[in-house]
Amino acid sequence: MMASAEAPAVAAPVLAVRALDAFYGKAQALFGVTLDVAPGEVVALVGRNGAGKSTLLNSVMGLAAGRGEIALDGRRIDALPAHARARLGLGYVPEERRIFPDLTVRENLRVGSRGGAFDLEALLALFPNLREMLDRPGAQMSGGEQRMLALARTLAAGRRLVLLDEPSEGIAPIIVARLSEAVRAMKRQGVAVLLSEQNPRFVAAVADRALLLQQGRVIGQSPVAELSPLSEAVRRVLGI
Ligand code: ATP
Repeated sequence: MMASAEAPAVAAPVLAVRALDAFYGKAQALFGVTLDVAPGEVVALVGRNGAGKSTLLNSVMGLAAGRGEIALDGRRIDALPAHARARLGLGYVPEERRIFPDLTVRENLRVGSRGGAFDLEALLALFPNLREMLDRPGAQMSGGEQRMLALARTLAAGRRLVLLDEPSEGIAPIIVARLSEAVRAMKRQGVAVLLSEQNPRFVAAVADRALLLQQGRVIGQSPVAELSPLSEAVRRVLGI
C-alpha cells in the first residue's frame, strides 16, 4: 500500500491488528479481532479465563497459529517469526517469568540487552527497587520481584511495544504497586503496552483503555477513566 501524502496528523498506531483469527488445531480461539495501540498508550485486555487474552498476546508475538493483519509501526509483521518481531521492537513477558535463576539481577539485565546498547541507570530509573538487588541471584527473589526483573529485562533491549500477560497475578500488593509505577514510567517514555489482566485495580491504575474480550471476540471497549467505579459491563465480563 502506498503512503498517502495527505495522512492525518493523528499519531500513527504502534500496533495495528485487523481481523485477527487464531486457532488451536480446528478450534478457533479468536474471531476477527481488530485493535490499535498508540505510542505510549497502555491497553488492557479484560475478560474471563479462556476469553482469548493470552492467545491474542501470543498471536501478536507470533507464537500462535492464525490469520489476519498485524502491523508494528505501519510495517506488516504477521508473516514474520517471533524472533524477527522481537528484533523490530516487540517485547513479551509471559505469565511464567523468564529469568535466569543462577545469574544475578545485573547479569539478567545485561543478557536482556542481547549485546545491544544497555543503559543500566535508565532501567533502574524505571525499576528503582532492583538497585539494591543487583548482585542477588534471580533465584533468591520473590515471585513478584522476578516478574519485575522479567519486565526490566525485556525493556533492556529497547522496545516499541511490550506485551504483558497477567502481570499482577499471584504477586504481593506492594510489588503490584511497584509494577504499576514501572508501567506508568514506561508509558511516559513512549513505550506502548498491551496487557492481559483480571485484576480491575491494576487495570484502573495503569491502563488508558480497556478492551473487553468474550469467547474470542472484542465485545466492547472503554477509556479506563470512564470505567471507574467499575462499570457493569466489566463486572459482567470478569464475572465479579
Ligand atoms: P487465561 O487467563 O485462562 O489464560 P485467556 O483469556 O488468556 O484465559 P486463552 O488462554 O487465550 O484465554 O484461551 C482462549 C481459548 O483457547 C480457550 O477456549 C482455551 O481453552 C483455548 N486454548 C488456549 N490454549 C490452548 C492450547 N494450547 N490448546 C488448545 N486450546 C487452547
